[in-house]
Formats: sequence, structure tokens, C-alpha cells
Amino acid sequence: MTKAKWEQRWHPLRQEWVVIAGHRQDRPWSGEMLGSSADDLPAHVADCYLCAGNARVSGAINPCYTGIYVFDNDHPCVGPSAPLDVGTAPGIYRKAPANGLARVLCYGPEHHLRLSRLSVPRVADLLRAWQDQYRDLGQRPEVQHVLIFENNGEAVGVSNPHPHCQVYATNFVFKTTEIEVAASRTHTAATGHGLLEDMIDSERADGRRVLDENDSALSFVPYCARYAYEVFVAPKGRHASIADLSPTEIDDLADVLRALLIRFDNLWQMSFPYVMVLHNAPTDGADHSSFHSYISLHPPLRKPNLLKYLAGPELGGGNFIAASWPEDKAAELRACATAHYADGTVA
Ligand SMILES: [Zn+2]
Repeated sequence: MTKAKWEQRWHPLRQEWVVIAGHRQDRPWSGEMLGSSADDLPAHVADCYLCAGNARVSGAINPCYTGIYVFDNDHPCVGPSAPLDVGTAPGIYRKAPANGLARVLCYGPEHHLRLSRLSVPRVADLLRAWQDQYRDLGQRPEVQHVLIFENNGEAVGVSNPHPHCQVYATNFVFKTTEIEVAASRTHTAATGHGLLEDMIDSERADGRRVLDENDSALSFVPYCARYAYEVFVAPKGRHASIADLSPTEIDDLADVLRALLIRFDNLWQMSFPYVMVLHNAPTDGADHSSFHSYISLHPPLRKPNLLKYLAGPELGGGNFIAASWPEDKAAELRACATAHYADGTVA
């Protein structure tokens, strides 16, 4: 029987409290149940707008690409053709042209090979593509921030399962980055240390939440995890963005990231949904040498068919209530194999 116990944990990067209410995870559930994700997708789908050789919604035809394929989003939320004369906002409000660039990166031509099914060299290729995107878009004078993320799975609203991620290059800095960069700068000024480096030191000293580790990278369920299976994947060395990682660091990071994604899939033997976000310093020209780039993964599921809903505390109050102990969830992930349950088709 789970003991009734709860506590607050401080999230040093986000500068906010997370309430860990671990006794709530066994509450009876009578809400929505998710269908289990299909694992038997074909390699090519005739009407998939991301598959090689197919037409996209814009009418453009994808080339018969063989590796990673990048194109400008056909329905960008920010774009170079944004109306510049947006007029005046009413009263207290402000508005601005939503210029910038939005791109899509297909991980490969194989419709069925999600990131967890790719080999370490192919995952490393993707990390190098992210380096290229950050450099290419970040050097544009109008771009202040490059947000790279993957929404994976129907549970996070993805309608097309073809493995891909997105890049938003914007004329503003996304809020989470702004907060994390400021927290890192303050911490370094006060202590001389890197904030994420100190978190990594604390995680390694405790050890219970560390999942995988090699020479220059590691993954862990953070002490202050907001989602049940939230994981940080980080280079041990401090770099303001992924673009600054050496080839060896990229290989090590790819190794740890792939191991994590396989653990995720193995947990319930299903394609594990998640939102994956790269945390990179802004490209606004300021000194961000105190920032330590990393990748965070936010799986929405608490149980195989149970979503974490953002409700009153999260949406209304702005702080998360986590219904499980990070140590317990890390133990579950640590117990999973790092060979994929559906192995035999790894590309
Ligand atoms: Zn496809």
C-alpha cells in the first residue's frame, strides 16, 4: 500500500515549486482511456505528405530523399511572409509581425521508423542536423531564438506518425528559455558554477534517478520532475547550445538519447508518446556562456492509458502537481532493457 506522503521540490531551472503527491497515483480512474498505439505501420504511405516522392499540402513534391529531409513548413505559425503592417492593438494590448521561420525535419524516408528505432549513427546524424539548423537560423538578424522540438504520438496531438520534428525560429525568446537562461546566469554569478552542472552533480551523487551515462552524456529523471516519466538528456559539459558540442559529445548524446527512447518503448511495449524539447541559448547576441544546453522529454502518460491532464494547478496556478515519485518512475525505467522489444528491424 502506498504511504500517504507529499512534498514540494524546487525546480532550479524553472524557478518554481513542483508538488510531488505520490500517494495520489493509485486513485481510482474512471476517465478517458487511450487506445494503444499501433506498431505495424508500413514503410511508405501513399497519402502521407512527409513520405518521399509524395505531394505536400502546398502542392510541393517531396524529393525521393534517403536521409534527413528538411523543408519550410507549409503552414508556418511564423514565417518570412508574415504581414509586416499589423496595425495597432487595442488599448493595453500589443502586437507584432510574426516573422521568422518554421521548418520540418523528417528523420528519414521510412514512415514506420520512429526515433527509438533508428541506430545510434542515425540518431547522431539527427543531432548534427539540429546543430546545422541552430547555426543556420540563429545567425539571421531577425531570429532571437531557435526552438527545436518533436511532438511524438497521438496522445500529444500528432496526426501524422511519419517521424519528424519541427524548428521554430522566432523574433522573440520562448518563455521557458528566458527563465532558464536567467536562472543559470544568476546561479553562475553567485556560485561560479553552472546550474545544470550542479543539478547533474546532485543527480549523480544520489544516483537513484540516473538512467544511462557514458563519458560525456547522461540521462536522468530530474528530482523535480513535473511529469511522471520526465527525463533530461544532457551533455556533461556546459555548452550554450547543441551547436557547440564536439563530434564525440554528439555521439555520446545520441547513445544516451537512443537508450532512453528504447526504455520508454519497452516500459509498456508500445510506441511511447512524448514531447521532446531542445533547450538552447537564445541567438539574440547576448552572452549566454552560463547556460547549459540539454534535451528534455515530457511524456504525457502516467499509466498505459492514463494521461497527465493539465488542470487547475497547472493551467490556473502555473505549478505542477506530480502524482508519482521521480525515484519510483526512474526505477521503472532503469528496469527496462536497452534492446528494443520489437528488435530485428532496427535501421
Ligand atoms: Zn510517411
